[in-house]
Order: sequence, then structure tokens, then C-alpha cells
Amino acid sequence: MLKPHSRVKPLESRWLLTLPSFAAALFSLALAVFLIFTAYSEQSARNHSLMQDLLWQKQALNTRVDNFTHQLRTVAASMATDGLGSAEFTARTLSLLEDSPEIISLEYIDETGQQRWREPATKPANVPDFRHPNLVAIREAVLQGETSSYSKLILESPETPILAIAVPIKLNYNGRHVLIAQLNLRTMLQQQVPWWIAQRYQISLWDKQKLIAGKFDRSYDASQLSSSIDLDWPPNKLVLTAHIYEQKRNNWQTALTIVVAALSILMLASTWALRRHIKERQKTEAQLRQEQALRESMENSLVTGIRAMDLQGRLFYVNRAFCEMVGYSQEKLIGASHPMPYWPPEDIEQCMAIYRAILSGRADTTGYQMRFMRSNGERFDVRLYAAKLIDGDGVHTGWISAIYDITELQREREALQASHERFVAVLNGLDAAVSVTDANSGELLLSNRHFDAAFNIPERHGRYCNIPFVRRSKGAPVDSEWFDDYNQHWYQVKSRSSIWVDGSEVWLEIATDITMLKNAQENERQQKEQLQQTTRLISMGEMASSLAHELNQPLAAIASYATGCRNVLAQTQPNIAQLDQAIEKMAAQAKRAGQIIRGIREFVQRRAPHRKQCEIADLLDTVQTLLSAEIKKAQVKLTISDTQALPPIYADAVMLEQVIFNLMKNAIEAMADTPVKQRTLDVKVRRDEEMLAVSITDRGPGINAEQMEQLFKPFYTTKGSGMGMGLNICRSIIEHHQGRLWVEANPLGGSCFHFTLPLSIESEAYEP
Ligand code: ADP
Repeated sequence: MLKPHSRVKPLESRWLLTLPSFAAALFSLALAVFLIFTAYSEQSARNHSLMQDLLWQKQALNTRVDNFTHQLRTVAASMATDGLGSAEFTARTLSLLEDSPEIISLEYIDETGQQRWREPATKPANVPDFRHPNLVAIREAVLQGETSSYSKLILESPETPILAIAVPIKLNYNGRHVLIAQLNLRTMLQQQVPWWIAQRYQISLWDKQKLIAGKFDRSYDASQLSSSIDLDWPPNKLVLTAHIYEQKRNNWQTALTIVVAALSILMLASTWALRRHIKERQKTEAQLRQEQALRESMENSLVTGIRAMDLQGRLFYVNRAFCEMVGYSQEKLIGASHPMPYWPPEDIEQCMAIYRAILSGRADTTGYQMRFMRSNGERFDVRLYAAKLIDGDGVHTGWISAIYDITELQREREALQASHERFVAVLNGLDAAVSVTDANSGELLLSNRHFDAAFNIPERHGRYCNIPFVRRSKGAPVDSEWFDDYNQHWYQVKSRSSIWVDGSEVWLEIATDITMLKNAQENERQQKEQLQQTTRLISMGEMASSLAHELNQPLAAIASYATGCRNVLAQTQPNIAQLDQAIEKMAAQAKRAGQIIRGIREFVQRRAPHRKQCEIADLLDTVQTLLSAEIKKAQVKLTISDTQALPPIYADAVMLEQVIFNLMKNAIEAMADTPVKQRTLDVKVRRDEEMLAVSITDRGPGINAEQMEQLFKPFYTTKGSGMGMGLNICRSIIEHHQGRLWVEANPLGGSCFHFTLPLSIESEAYEP
């Protein structure tokens, strides 16, 4: 018996399974949040510095333009005081132009609007003429009194966006002269955007959505991140824009990010793989637990005891059935060695021998039958089978034995044996010969002693049933009689189809020796026949006078006819025709007398039954003739129903005549005390389906209930001279013809005797 394993509860295991995945997901989320946050703060820092740098750049450009204005004013002042040709003016102008490459033109326009001086002396092609409306406009503004004026942006050529600044030249005589400088904003931007700004931003100058100048580093792409600021140079609405360049990450930073991402993925993948592994493990564990539970329940539900010994013969495993069998606990048995506590002291040697045989590997594979002892000392029989115990690695680790408690089996076997013996004893004690024969092969499967003795089967040809002459039917059981010629014995054989213990079809036959019965029947039959004969003789004795009367008639007639003949012959001319007539009548009367005598002889003769086709009308006629004198004497009125349309019967005519004779004679005798008027005897014959039904009704005293019981028994009579055999013989004759004879009360008073006869044809008539 094994202890159940400690196991993780399902809820706990689910938590354990989810926790690493949850932690990994959290870690990835934190990492993502961290990266987003870093990117966001980096972005806002970049935004902040962008704004600051842009402000700074605007300030630098404004300062530059203001500087120009200031310097122009200084040049204009020097122009006014020193004149155009003075060294001071030339020096100032040259210094201004040298310091400011963005100034592409410097012009002096007098009050007449004529250009007096210009630097460079010849106007470059891309520089607009001083008569350009924008220039004229600022000159006018200055002449109106403005200290300085900025022109509208001049975009003659896209390469040269120009901003002009005009300052007045204040001469003593109050002349209206103006100094105009044209600045190339593109150059100014190139000059005024320092390297550290240009490295980080793409700086551009826009006039109403139109790019007019920019400083780009073409090796970098501008990002979406940008900022713009207005330059306050009226009347222009110029906008300065800075786009941050896409920052190229440091290699180590990128590598680090990749490593961290890869590690995260690896961690997630490993967590997932771990989770899968754990799940599979859990599944396997569950299967294992299930298998173990199944094994445990199998071991515990087994009725077979199982024990395992190591190679030294010490028990290290026993199942529950074994513990229950021997009555020792598992703790007591584990570790036990020889002699085992369940070995009975008287069988120690046998147990030891088997124990040694098992340990040496010579155990009998067909098992051992031995006796064990329970803890309470009770002995019980077991059957033990031993085999090698091989572990999962194929190593022989000991010996395993299966032990069956066969006490009950033994008891059942003995009970079965006893029951079988009882069965055989009963079977052999039977007078009948019993046999069971295979329906297909004819082989005799079972026979009792009586059968073997009666039919004496030589077994060397196989056991076959030798009463094959009986009739067999798969339907209803068949009862038949069979005469064994060899033994000169009569058997009544009951044969029926049955199913044998192995499911096969068999014939079950019980043959009872009925020789004695048959002999008795034969004796009885002979006695009956003798009785019939006697009754006939008695009847004849009784009828002697009426018969004499009956014969007297034709004889008297013959005598009178003979006298008549003699008289005719005595005549001289005898009438031949008369003579012939008389002789014919004589012959007829002689024939009638002969018939009466033959009838009496046949009736009286002792004879075996002889069946042939006959008409009921003829039988009635004969009986009527025999009884005619008696009927007349008893003053009985006889009526016989119409018998014309009735079919013939197949019977012994004389026997049936005797039946009708007896019944009619009884009826006549019964009416001895009946008033003469009521003495009627009705004989009715009719067809009732396949039977011929005859009823003989009288108006005698009838038959009471007590008589009904006795009537057909032999020797029952109420008559002083009667034998009491008449009705008994009648019934056996009718039954011999497969008919029935019974009596009923006549509702008008008297009794009514009925009998039936089958209307069968000759071949169907049963003649046992
Ligand atoms: P037996 O005529 O020699 O007495 P049976 O066997 O013919 O013998 O009749 C037995 C008895 O049945 C008669 O003694 C009589 O009492 C009674 N029995 C028979 N037939 C009739 C009948 N038709 N009516 C009344 N009783 C009858």
C-alpha cells in the first residue's frame, strides 16, 4: 500500500504559474513606461532648448540689423560732416563693408533722387536699382522725418532676398539726402547663425509661407520637432524657424536599448516556455496521480493478494487484500523474512521449500497450492504464483507473488462434486433409462446406469445412442412406445429437444420399461373381451324367447307357404305362377331367418375387433331387428331420426351394434314403470363437425347424481339379474374408436345417453 503524495493545491499552483508571467509583463511595462518617459522628457528638454536657442538667434539677428542701422547712421553723419571724399568717411565705409559681407550695396541718394555715390561702384546684376519702388518708399519715409526705415523685402532673384535700410544724411543746409544699404538676408543668415546652432537646427527664414533663406546641414534630416518666432522688422512679417535635426543616437545607447529589449524578449520567452513546461509537468503529474490512484484502487479492490520480496526474501510490499487475507497489518508484514508470520508451524518445511524455490528463480510457473495461517490461527488454502520483479530500468529487484484464497473455491468444488454425485445417484436410481444425445452428431453425452444396462453400449465405437427409432420433434415433446426386439421389452419413450450445458442442441430421452404394463393391458383386454362375450351370451340368453319368436315368424311363414304349395300341387292343373310366387316368398323368409341367425352368431362369436367402412343406418337397423320383439312386448314407441345424408364411419360394426343394443335395451328396461303412453325411445343421429353424434333418450326414472358417478364402473347394477358390465364395455368400445360416451338428464324426465364417433377415413383411423 502506498502513501498518497503531497501535492500543490490547484489555486496555489495557478498563482505560482501566473506570478513569473505577471512579473515579466510588469517588468516589460515598466521598461516601456521608462522608455516613453525618457523619450518624453528628452523631447521636452529639446523643446525647451529649441525655444531658448531660437530666441537667442532672433536676438542675434535683431542686434545685427540694429548694428547696421547704427553704423549706417555713423557713416551718414561722417558723410554729412566730412564729405564724400574725406579719409574719415572712406575708412568708416570700408570698415563697415568689410565687417558686413551681407551688405551687398550702399548708395547715397541726393535730394533730387539722383545717386551720388555707391559702393561697390558698379551695381552687381542681382542688386536692384535705387529707383526700385521699395527703395523709393523707404527714401520717402526717411525724408518725411523717420530716423531709419526698413524696406519691404525685395525678391528679384530667389538667391538674393534683400532687406534695405535707409537713414537720412543730415547736411547743414538741410538738404534731403539719404543713405540706403541693401542687406542680403541669405548671407546674413549664413553669417549670423553660429556653428553650435547650425549643428543642432535647420534654421530658415520665411516670408508669408515662402522660404527666403536657410542654413541647412544636408547630411542630417530635419525632424518634426520645430519652433518659429517672428522677427520684428516692419513692415515685413518675417518668421524665423528652427527644425531640430534627427538626433543620431550614440552607438552604445542603441546597443544598450537593443540588449535591454532582447533581454526583455528573452525573459518573456523563457517565462512563457517555463509556463508551458510547468503546465505540461502539471498535466503529466495529474496523469501520474490519476494512474497512481487507479493503481491504488485496483490494488485495493483486488481480491488477489499481492506481495513483493526483495532479492534477499524480505517483504517490501503487500496489498490490502493480502493483509486482509492473513490478518496482519501492512507495518507488521513489511520487512518480514522467513519464517513468515502466516506460515502454519506444521507446514513450515513445505513453505520454506517453496520460498527457496522462488528466491532461486526455480519457481513452478503453474503455481503452488499451499496452506497459510491467519493471525487468529485459522488455516486457509491458497494458490500462489511467483514471478520476477523487474523495475523500470529493467533491473531484477525481487520477486512478486499473487496469492488466491481458494478455500471457498475448494468448498464450492466439493459442494459441486457432492451435488453431482447426488444427481448421478438420483439418475441411476431411476427406473427409467435416461439419455442425452447431441442433436447434430448423435453422440451420447449423458446416460444413467439403467440406460447403460438396458442398451449395453460398447464404448469402443464411441458413445452413440441406440434408440434411434423413437419419434423426435423440435416442437412439443413426443411420447411414443417402442418395442425392443432384441430384449423383447416394451418402452415408453419421452423425447424432447433441449439445450445442453454448453449451449448445444440435444435430445433428452427418458425410456421407461412398460413391458409389465403392456402385458397387464393385454390381459385386461383379453379379460374384457371375454366379459363382452359373456355379456353377449347373457344378453342372448335373455333374448332367447324373443329370438324364438323372431325366428318363429319366418319359419311359420315358410310352413304356411309350403302348405300352400302342396295345395297348389294337389290341383289337377297346378297354377305354376302361384307356385313360383309362393316359393319365392318362402325363399325370402328363409333368407330373413338365415340373416337373424347369422346376426346372432356374429354377435355371440368371440372375435377380435375388425374395422371397416359401415353405415350407421345399417347398424341401427340390425339392432332394431334384434330388439323388435322386446320393444313390442314393452309397448315402447321407438323413433329413429333420418340417417340418409350421413357419411359412412370406419368402425367395427358388431361392436357398435352391441353398444347401441345395450343402450336401447337399458332404456327399454328403464321405462318398465313408466305409463305406457309416455314410453318413448328416441334415437337421434346427426353430424357434429368431424364427429357423428348419436343420442338415445328415454322417459325412464332418470339417473341421480350418486348414480352418475358409478354408472360406468364395472359391476354397477341396480337390477336383480344384471351384471353391471354393459355401460363399462360400451364406454371402452367407444373410446377404442376415439369417441366419447356420457349421460345427461332428459329435461322431460328420463335420461339421455350420448356417444360420438370420428368421421375419419380409413387411412387416418388409429388402430393401436
Ligand atoms: P346392467 O344392465 O347389467 O345393470 P349396465 O352397465 O348396462 O348393467 O347398467 C348399469 C346400471 O345403470 C343399471 O343397473 C341401471 O341402474 C342403470 N341404467 C342404465 N341405463 C339406464 C337408463 N337408461 N335409465 C336409468 N338407469 C339406467
